[in-house]
Amino acid sequence: MKSYKFKIGNFNCLAIKDGTHIYHEPVGILFPDAPKELLALALKRHDIDPDNWTKWRSDYTCLMVDTGTHRVLMDTGAGTFLPEAGRLVKNLRTLGIEPDEIDLVLISHAHPDHVGAVAFPNARIVMRREEWDFWNGEPDLPRLPSEFKEMLLYLIKPLLASLADRIELIDGNTQIIPGIKTIAATGHTPGHMAVSVESEGQELLYTGDAILHPIHMEHPNWNAIVDVIPKEAEATRRHLLARAASGNSFLFCFHFSFPGLGRIREKGNTWQWEPIN
Ligand SMILES: [Zn+2]
Repeated sequence: MKSYKFKIGNFNCLAIKDGTHIYHEPVGILFPDAPKELLALALKRHDIDPDNWTKWRSDYTCLMVDTGTHRVLMDTGAGTFLPEAGRLVKNLRTLGIEPDEIDLVLISHAHPDHVGAVAFPNARIVMRREEWDFWNGEPDLPRLPSEFKEMLLYLIKPLLASLADRIELIDGNTQIIPGIKTIAATGHTPGHMAVSVESEGQELLYTGDAILHPIHMEHPNWNAIVDVIPKEAEATRRHLLARAASGNSFLFCFHFSFPGLGRIREKGNTWQWEPIN
């Protein structure tokens, strides 16, 4: 399945697949600092064999919201740099949605799987100023091996340069249009943002990469190797999860199994993912 339709209040929403990507040695990427025994237990609960988990197949799913007045896209997928991703525009076209019909694109952060294909000529393109400034400066990425860091910068710098004359930079929490608000969700990257989609008392939180795997809901203190500021990444996860639990909001997670949509259940002071399949 490449798309999934649902409603938040009066808004028509569409989970739309950009593709998938296989990450090798997933423990080193997702849970590098997790205590071995606890991690083994968590993996087993998710039917993963801790001794033989060599590949994590991650779906990439973007969210489109039609508010009735605006067509808003959250993240743009990987564009051309991965073999099994970059299908967002093609999949939108299959549904009769042309790129020039999108009038607002919200970029959660500048990693290339999110900003790879900003092919929307009529859209406002919105990103947090902190994110733009970080990647356009001399980013410090102390957790990443140097080849990984170089590869990221090699991809990100030209993608951002191509947006320089049209990017709209915002600070912190901003209402962009009625029902669509950005939430500063720093940590995965220094200017990462989440998005609140709200209509008729129902809310969905688009979490970008604040939560990469359902196990991060059970152990929000386990940071990924790609979380630039671990302490803030943990605080952001806890904030988003607590907010979703207290408001019974839907969560939308880009890297989860398609469609990446679900609710959470509180369990002690952590949370459990309840996907909508
Ligand atoms: Zn990502």
